[in-house]
Amino acid sequence: MDGDAAEAIVSDRELTDGFHMVIDALKLNGIRTIYHVPGIPVTDLGRMAQAEGLRVISFRHEQHAGYAAAAAGYLTGLPGVCLTVSAPGFLNGLTALAHATTNCWPMILISGSSEREIVDLQQGDYEEMDQLAVAKPLCKAAYRILHARDIGVGIARAIRTALSGRPGGVYLDLPASLLGQAMDAVEGAESLIRVVDPAPAQLPASKAVDRAIDVLKGAERPLVILGKGAAYAQCDETVRRFVETSGFPYIAMSMAKGLLPDIHPQYAGAARSLVLKDSDCVMLVGARLNWLLGHGKGRQWGEPGSKRFVHVDIEPTEMDSNQSIDAPLVGDIESVLESLLERMDGWKKPSDAWTGAVKAKVSANVDRMAPKLVNNSVPMDFHGALGRLRRVIADNPDAMLVNEGANTLDFARSIIDMYKPRKRLDVGTWGVMGVGMGTSVAAAVETGCPVIAVEGDSAFGFSGMEVETICRYGLPVCIVVFNNSGIYRGTDVNPVGEDPAPTVFVPEARYDLMMKAFGGEGVTARSPDDLERAVREALDSGKPTLVNAIIDPAAGTESGRIGNLNPQSVVKKT
Ligand code: ADP
Ligand code: MG
Repeated sequence: MDGDAAEAIVSDRELTDGFHMVIDALKLNGIRTIYHVPGIPVTDLGRMAQAEGLRVISFRHEQHAGYAAAAAGYLTGLPGVCLTVSAPGFLNGLTALAHATTNCWPMILISGSSEREIVDLQQGDYEEMDQLAVAKPLCKAAYRILHARDIGVGIARAIRTALSGRPGGVYLDLPASLLGQAMDAVEGAESLIRVVDPAPAQLPASKAVDRAIDVLKGAERPLVILGKGAAYAQCDETVRRFVETSGFPYIAMSMAKGLLPDIHPQYAGAARSLVLKDSDCVMLVGARLNWLLGHGKGRQWGEPGSKRFVHVDIEPTEMDSNQSIDAPLVGDIESVLESLLERMDGWKKPSDAWTGAVKAKVSANVDRMAPKLVNNSVPMDFHGALGRLRRVIADNPDAMLVNEGANTLDFARSIIDMYKPRKRLDVGTWGVMGVGMGTSVAAAVETGCPVIAVEGDSAFGFSGMEVETICRYGLPVCIVVFNNSGIYRGTDVNPVGEDPAPTVFVPEARYDLMMKAFGGEGVTARSPDDLERAVREALDSGKPTLVNAIIDPAAGTESGRIGNLNPQSVVKKT
């Protein structure tokens, strides 16, 4: 940073300290929000950050502050920052840091820590823990800053590591003693670094592009799969041009929905089984062949060896991780797709036999689903309830949709169409429950758009206390709890005693009152008509609202669509 800018930062003080240097370094790099839970030794860091113009959103539990930071990283392409206290607060935030890393989202977890000298000799300090060692295997990199003069470098390294290549989580350890360290203010300001080009373009090799074009030209029944990496890459126009120029049918992974509108004529989401099985060439764009795609093997993928794969990813080691990749395209998605487009003048689109078959399947499946979506049954089933939310989103395409649960997630993903990029935020690569409220806060804070959080009652329970956070900041979040009185279903019975079965909750619990307790709106909806009305009113008012949507306790299925992942016991049920 140059001398003039440094003078400007320090005009009214001669000394600076660790607190202010951390704040100045974050601001210098465009960070505007900190997701936080106050406590020793970072209480003043949060206060001072707010005083210095950062937005500090204070949560009730670090895990949700962390999930908010993870979602903020995904939405903005800048690392989301979570600030926690030492040991237990750090551990609470660590789950979210691992989640961000697994999702390939940029995030920085900053935690205060206890005295190094005492921690390393294990002499029993307040909240003693070697946090750096604990964090290391769970994120892209972990750094500790011991001297105020290194804060600039430390934060620059954290930002560059989080953003470059495959994005991910970074842990930054700030011992309590660092924050109070004094330093000459001008030297301090001059030691800060503004990271230049933290996510540099990575162009694919020309040979790799030629190879991919050959494979794609040879395809008779091609398919594109867009993943959340493609949404994260924020090159929406390039993705659209590639898809439309190629003429390939495409499907979107959960969070890539809306990257092109789900009503696009090439969208084959409603014919997913057909295109996975019958395609002869699959091009993955920012999507991994992990469990969410059955590792690219098994019956859903048709005959073994029946497909060729083209894979676009910034991470070279992703190639061949599950399937042999015929044409690896290592680079950033925008550069790769632009390179392909340069070679696609006069491109011959796939035959009508293929695209026609896909379209016929799509419309047959859409027609089959349609009547279920307009039912007004009481008690509500998932289709009746989600059919209404589908209409609400269609009328409010800018609204952010947060979604978690088992059945609530699986049905919403396939029923609710998305129309714009990065509007859908859900459980991500791990399928983790408990992300809902943190994600909702970030969605509201980072985009300024209204948020509809469609939550299973179990999923909501993990982060329910954050409704206070939502009310405190007056965020335009409408939570819809799909209350079927249990996990998967509310109908299990204990075969031997008085205790409730492990999967059931208090029947028809009044989640709406939780929101009322903090000054928000709480409504119970028993019919699809009630539900639609309540959500539309919440969007109109912009007030924090919880709609307690009472769903038939018998309506769900075990583990939603992934019941097959449950191991089976060989012991006969008595
Ligand atoms: P989904 O769950 O939607 O299938 P994944 O999280 O499995 O998506 O895959 C996202 C992929 O996108 C990751 O392998 C990641 O390395 C990749 N990725 C993220 N950003 C970029 C980018 N800018 N360019 C290329 N690949 C990217
Ligand atoms: Mg439930």
